[in-house]
Amino acid sequence: MEELDGLPNLRSRTVSDRHIFANEEGRFFKGQHDLLSRIGSNELSDQELKFLQKRHLIKSSKLVKHASLFAQARRKTNVEGLEYLILVPTLRCNLACSYCQVSRANENAEGYDWDEATLGQITGLIKQFSGRSLKIEFQGGEPTLRPDLISAVLDAGSHIPDMTAVICTNLQRLDEEILTIFNRENVQISTSLDGSLITHKAQRTQDDASTSQFERNLSLVLKRYGPGKISALPTVNPNDPPEIDSLVEAFVSRGFTSIYLRPINYQGFARKQHPESIEQSGHWGAYYSKFIHRLIARNWDNRDQVIEETYFSHCLNRIFKPGLDRHVDLRSPNPVGVDYIVVDFDGKIYPTDEARMLSRSGIIDLTIGDIATGWDSPERRALNEASTNADDPDCQNCVYQPYCGRDIIDDISRYGRIDLRRHETNFCKRHMSIFDLAFSLIYSNEDAVQYSLRHWLGLSGDSITLGESI
Ligand code: SF4
Repeated sequence: MEELDGLPNLRSRTVSDRHIFANEEGRFFKGQHDLLSRIGSNELSDQELKFLQKRHLIKSSKLVKHASLFAQARRKTNVEGLEYLILVPTLRCNLACSYCQVSRANENAEGYDWDEATLGQITGLIKQFSGRSLKIEFQGGEPTLRPDLISAVLDAGSHIPDMTAVICTNLQRLDEEILTIFNRENVQISTSLDGSLITHKAQRTQDDASTSQFERNLSLVLKRYGPGKISALPTVNPNDPPEIDSLVEAFVSRGFTSIYLRPINYQGFARKQHPESIEQSGHWGAYYSKFIHRLIARNWDNRDQVIEETYFSHCLNRIFKPGLDRHVDLRSPNPVGVDYIVVDFDGKIYPTDEARMLSRSGIIDLTIGDIATGWDSPERRALNEASTNADDPDCQNCVYQPYCGRDIIDDISRYGRIDLRRHETNFCKRHMSIFDLAFSLIYSNEDAVQYSLRHWLGLSGDSITLGESI
């Protein structure tokens, strides 16, 4: 055999006895365990050689080399200007959940809402916005304690052709003023629902009256607007997770088809009240895998209603669709202060909501600016220099690098540093297990598995092979 030109840069990983290979563009396939050593010693079979050539995994011409560079570039985050604003009009809240991620203030406390000057600077920023599309997320505290501030912001963006808003609320309080905001077509409602009402009460509302209030209000908005306008997210304690079927049922019975399972975030109050959440990969991974398998079985038995886990669908889609770079939890590079910022109740600007929580908890100040003077700061530049998985030795050898990302705020939060070996970090362990799960499913022969995967990927047809094999 002739010496090969343009040897493929393949990495490999064994998942459920299958040997998965992928190059730096994210092209993947299943092959023999000793493929890499036989490529090195030029001992490929004709069939293997043809397979690699046909898929341009051997870059033998200039054109193929250029195409490869283009494909690699498409895997990298490509963002330029502001597209997403997370706003915190007040830090006050009318609940005190055990794992609240924010150092909240009591409902009647003073000095925890935007003042006139801050409101003016935020509405000024939005009025000057000249792009086509802007998404605004209202966080808290509980933002509905200040419906006047929400309305002022929404009015300021009336010139933006595609402006959408999400109001993250605990739904404890609903009155005409709040419903008038919810009535707006471009407004979505996001709330927390931890599963059955017993679980929800134990983790959030604490007493019967608040739990009933929440249930009444959730039913009211669902009846009034339908589940398409509302999303509900559960927060799960990996060391004491709810029973899967009852959690799924709590969502399905209300018409929700997406469930975004979130482990307790090791931030803010959670780190004081749930210190065990610093490392959650083992328990979490096992529960998560069981949850996905349960959804697959359920979807096969109830084919008229396919349920998805939001983050798993996103990871799966990132394997197949380069360019999905708007999810800030999973992308590389993961630039901060570019396409999205968080503006706190006092006008300070943070790169992410997690950074705000860390700062508010007094762990480390991750402010990158303020609404009065801007956020093109040395702090932002310093964070952005490390916000990539491209230079990390563990990631460079990882088969999942093109689909994976970097979250330095999570590293700072858990370990107080960003230079830990990647494989030792919670971020890496968690994503390694999600991608392992994804590839074990991609290469599963079970009809039920393939059925769910096709739906989660938005594919029609029932004879599509998702993963190739030599
Ligand atoms: S963080 Fe871990 S899973 Fe992700 S690319 Fe790096 S080594 Fe792979």
